[in-house]
Amino acid sequence: MTHTSQVVVIGGGQAGLAAGYHLRRLGIDFVILDAQTTPGGAWQHAWDSLRLFSPAAYSSLPGRLMPQQPGEPYPDVQHVVQYLADYEKRYELPVERPVGVLGVHRDGQHLRVETDSGTWHARAVISATGTWWRPFLPAVPGRADFEGRQLHTVEYGTSNDFSGQRVVVVGGGNSAAQIAADLAYDTQLTWVTQRPPRYLADDIDGRALFDTATARRRALDEGRTDTGGVASLGDIVAVPPVREARDRGLLKASPMFSRLVPGGVEWADGTRAETDAIIWCTGFRPTLSHLAPLQLRGLRGHIATEGTRAVDEPRLHLLGYGDWTGPASATLIGVGRPAREAAREISALLTAGTT
Ligand code: FAD
Repeated sequence: MTHTSQVVVIGGGQAGLAAGYHLRRLGIDFVILDAQTTPGGAWQHAWDSLRLFSPAAYSSLPGRLMPQQPGEPYPDVQHVVQYLADYEKRYELPVERPVGVLGVHRDGQHLRVETDSGTWHARAVISATGTWWRPFLPAVPGRADFEGRQLHTVEYGTSNDFSGQRVVVVGGGNSAAQIAADLAYDTQLTWVTQRPPRYLADDIDGRALFDTATARRRALDEGRTDTGGVASLGDIVAVPPVREARDRGLLKASPMFSRLVPGGVEWADGTRAETDAIIWCTGFRPTLSHLAPLQLRGLRGHIATEGTRAVDEPRLHLLGYGDWTGPASATLIGVGRPAREAAREISALLTAGTT
């Protein structure tokens, strides 16, 4: 089947919904194509005990505050999924599910969006496909030799799956710290990080990260000196479960091992830890393979952007992948502003095309 829409938004997670909110306000005809069967984007696949690193009010999309979760200062994933499901209903966002986009192609005045459920022709495309679908695993010698279980953050569900086992958690960010805290009580845990863990002060959370990103954006917008990103504050927000495990002395980090051996991990000095499972909390890369036909990727695999607009294809906007598509754009509260800018630019493009 062939469809026509002024704008196609690819991805129905928070970034796609924020784009939809602003496109709707500008009266633009659009559709959101999402590969999932149900609302919530990546959040519906996250592990059971995950907590947001900001309170609810600081985790809101444009137009609607995230409600407080009773008894939880930092909402859990079920609460976020419910919020996103309510959000798309409330604003009657036209989300088509499940529709997987296979490729975006130039086609004269249009961009042609090929999917597993037909073809869409659009004047502009917003790609908002997130990073969850491209987990990153570092190259470590011996990885193929290890005989235990290896999984990435995206495959972790609950600590019950590892009860009584010897588990190594790799990574120094929020995912690793939260998963290590989850496992700390009921497994023989080894947590390894490339450098000693850097906790934000206990009274600082994602709000400060957002404020810092906002201050930086203002400075850059006004041509002032770069105030520095959020990295200077630390890497790990001490949400209550992390703080508790750390304060009980259960979160002791070891340096990174140098290789895997069949029975576990080995450090450069020959020390070994016998291991049943290794959980790689080693990050993500943007999910961009559907844009390959446009041949826009440059150094480090990134597509060059000005704001959210692809420099070499002005009909394409990228939203939510990280700071290179707008400061804090990969967070719930931060994606609203770049979404608004993308919608405004697209509105101008459509208007210019009709005059
Ligand atoms: P996603 O939620 O991944 O949504 C993308 C959607 O696009 C998905 O539904 C996917 O199926 C779909 N899609 C992908 N490819 C295609 C395709 N080819 N065709 C059609 N559809 C496609 N942010 C915060 O603000 N606070 C936090 O506390 C926080 N904690 C985080 C914890 C973890 C472990 C992670 C990984 C991230 C966290 N983030 C947090 C960051 C961010 O908010 C989430 O990553 C969020 O899910 C990003 O939303 P998104 O819409 O960009 O992508």
